[in-house]
Amino acid sequence: MKYDLLVVGGGPGGMMSARTAARDGLRVLLVEKNMEITRIRRYCSRNMRLGPGAFKTNKLPTDIEINRANLTFEMDKGHTVIRLTNQPEDAAIDYHGVLGPCFNATSFSPSGNSWGEEENSLAITSFVIDKETLAKDLLDEAVKAGCQVRAGTRCDDIEEQAGGIRAKLVSGAGEDTIEASRVIVADGAFSQLVEKLGFNEGRPAGAPQLKFLAFILDGISSPYPEPRHISFLMPSIHKGNINLSHWPPGRYQLSCSTSVTSQVNLVDVLQKIMTDSPFAQFFKNSRVEERQACNMELRPQVKDTARGNVICLGDNTAYAETAMKGALGLGYVAAKASKMALEGKDANQHHNNYWQHSYNSFSTQYRAWGKMVNPIHRTLGDGEIDTLYGWISKNHYHGMINDILVDNRSQFQAELPEISAKLLATGERPARPAVH
Ligand SMILES: Cc1cc2nc3c(=O)[nH]c(=O)nc-3n(C[C@H](O)[C@H](O)[C@H](O)COP(=O)(O)OP(=O)(O)OC[C@H]3O[C@@H](n4cnc5c(N)ncnc54)[C@H](O)[C@@H]3O)c2cc1C
Repeated sequence: MKYDLLVVGGGPGGMMSARTAARDGLRVLLVEKNMEITRIRRYCSRNMRLGPGAFKTNKLPTDIEINRANLTFEMDKGHTVIRLTNQPEDAAIDYHGVLGPCFNATSFSPSGNSWGEEENSLAITSFVIDKETLAKDLLDEAVKAGCQVRAGTRCDDIEEQAGGIRAKLVSGAGEDTIEASRVIVADGAFSQLVEKLGFNEGRPAGAPQLKFLAFILDGISSPYPEPRHISFLMPSIHKGNINLSHWPPGRYQLSCSTSVTSQVNLVDVLQKIMTDSPFAQFFKNSRVEERQACNMELRPQVKDTARGNVICLGDNTAYAETAMKGALGLGYVAAKASKMALEGKDANQHHNNYWQHSYNSFSTQYRAWGKMVNPIHRTLGDGEIDTLYGWISKNHYHGMINDILVDNRSQFQAELPEISAKLLATGERPARPAVH
């Protein structure tokens, strides 16, 4: 049988594509290399931030039009409708998992100076979701709509041919080849298929890679009555943020990262934070139940991700800044584009246009903002971070730290001259490689 659409990968991007296309009447095959399709092995903080802000700033670029993929939550008892903003009703997802609200994301210095992203402590900044339940909900919707699913099946190769594609699939039962009119490749970071299909051509290789480690904990002792996303910074223990957040239902995650080339042992870092640091009081009653890890490559994004009969999306064509909401939005649009292509319309242009306006890294202004403040964890020592966080707190500033320091530059320079001289970038920092 020739399928209308092959979807490779059962993450948020692939699942959303498969269920949307199947609901639109396409004959869809979804393949996922893992046998337990809804069990997530790769570490992801599972945090759905509210609003269209990005990693480094909450400001929206104005040099290009950005319609960043964003979500809203419509809550009812035992059930939530997740809506993709700027998308029609059929993009809504019925989600049955826990929503862990995070109030006022808060940063701590070694001596306990702290400041929150929001002025109001009861402002919700994000929801941490149960990603496995989201995967199950999407899978159920896909199957109900008639999508065929092959778990424990890896797509090893894709070849374009007249009128479609041929794909080599490998499973415990052996190898076979299937044909489809179109393919959506949503196989996540470090994709061999994107490489083989030539989408990485001209995309500079050798970008820095980070390794992440998270401890999943059974309980913490927080000074706050409401759950918050908490970030600790103490460079004498670790030159990077240590993040503490929900892991619904009922648990917490403590995570950190470093360069893959670094000798730093992340297990030692997290253990030290929990037992032998000023933050140890948070962990006096907690136990590590599980560890999760992953790597990320900070490679610049692919520009045209739809070409011929192929659309690539999600972490395989850009690093994790697209986030789950980006992958869901792209999955939805890629499915619609695939249907358009089957109807003889110009689908690739439609998809590429959406992609190039939904992701801040296409903006020169956004990339420049990211370089205006030197990385705090690599630039300052413990005492300076105490001073800086104390200054932010005393002035009642809120927001992302880069925005606070740039928006209040004159006062920052006048009142903390040494720290501001170190943090505010004067010369050009090495540019990121150009976008392919
Ligand atoms: C450390 C870290 C923290 C993060 N925190 C957050 C966060 O808090 N909030 C947020 O929204 N996002 C977060 N993200 C990003 C988020 O995890 C991703 O953006 C999102 O999961 C991307 O979805 P995807 O569908 O593109 O890929 P993935 O979720 O990676 O799914 C790809 C799927 O494809 C399968 N696969 C791979 N190769 C093949 C093959 N050849 N054949 C068949 N199947 C294959 C994989 O097994 C996997 O199931 C984080 C990422 C990292 C690295």
